[in-house]
Amino acid sequence: MPWPHRLEQARGDLLVCSAAMETNAQILDGKAVATALEQDLAARVAKLKDRQAGRTPVLATILVGDDPASATYVRMKGNACRRVGMDSLRIDLPNATDTATLLAKIDELNADPAVQGILLQHPVPKGIDERACFDRIAVEKDVDGVTALGFGRMSLGERAYGSATPAGIMRLLKHYQVPVSGQHAVVVGRSPILGKPMAMMLLNAHATVTICHSRTQNLSDHVRSGDIVVAAVGRPRFVKGDWIKPGAVVVDAGYHPEKVGDVDLEEAVKRAGAYTPVPGGVGPMTIAMLIAQTVEAAERAADRARA
Ligand code: NAP
Repeated sequence: MPWPHRLEQARGDLLVCSAAMETNAQILDGKAVATALEQDLAARVAKLKDRQAGRTPVLATILVGDDPASATYVRMKGNACRRVGMDSLRIDLPNATDTATLLAKIDELNADPAVQGILLQHPVPKGIDERACFDRIAVEKDVDGVTALGFGRMSLGERAYGSATPAGIMRLLKHYQVPVSGQHAVVVGRSPILGKPMAMMLLNAHATVTICHSRTQNLSDHVRSGDIVVAAVGRPRFVKGDWIKPGAVVVDAGYHPEKVGDVDLEEAVKRAGAYTPVPGGVGPMTIAMLIAQTVEAAERAADRARA
């Protein structure tokens, strides 16, 4: 039975129709999946505490400068840590911080055995060598999946923490049993933290992948051929509804202050078979994956300490 009927059978409880959106497309409910994942993580954190005489895993977050959106994201990540019973160590550095100072702070956190995960909120202010700072994070603490080493390992199919947003998208697709193997996935965007790792993860899951970017010609034709479309462009409602192949799975990674993503979802859902809402789709999964990867890093550190 072709998808989405097969999926409808498997997860009938999660099939939701949105009257407001005039669609029968399935909502890939990132908020619900992230909440369930957090419950599981809370139990793993409690177990870790038992193993470590009450010590909780710690995610260190580094915020450089005073960008309000970045400050909000860091706060949301700290709140998620608390929800699962973990601690977060928040480090705020001024806008004028230079690369050497930030590298020294990362070195300090790398050497701190109480810290299992490090998140450097990006973008960092202009003038800081962001790539050098990302790559200074010890790969075993790179729970946001931003290092070149982590990206390389993940791309080769070796063990590594994936970039949190695409890793969250893969988890969401898996949860809803969206077929990926053999499907044509079109990723619009090729940033190091989103488009590129997304494409590699889909490729590793045996999709046939097309990566589009600002120099791509006939973009709408590429998108129209996608069974799975991931929009990671950074432009509000950029992917139009009539670019979507009927029945395609639409993943909207974008988020803009007007609470819309990178897809014109109102139109796209009329053709899509399934889609991630904005808000409530990819965003919550990103945070949940960051926390999940921190818990995993803490479990591995505890295993190493015991060995
Ligand atoms: P980015 O670094 O600005 O990258 C945007 C990508 O889109 C680039 O690869 C760019 O191509 C491509 N692009 C720009 N204009 C285009 C056009 N006209 N046609 C085709 N491609 C075009 O952005 P990002 O960090 O990947 O973020 C993308 C989106 O995801 C944003 O909306 C952001 O807010 C969102 N985001 C969400 C989360 C979350 O947790 N939900 C996390 C991170 C990001 P070139 O490479 O050729 O310039």
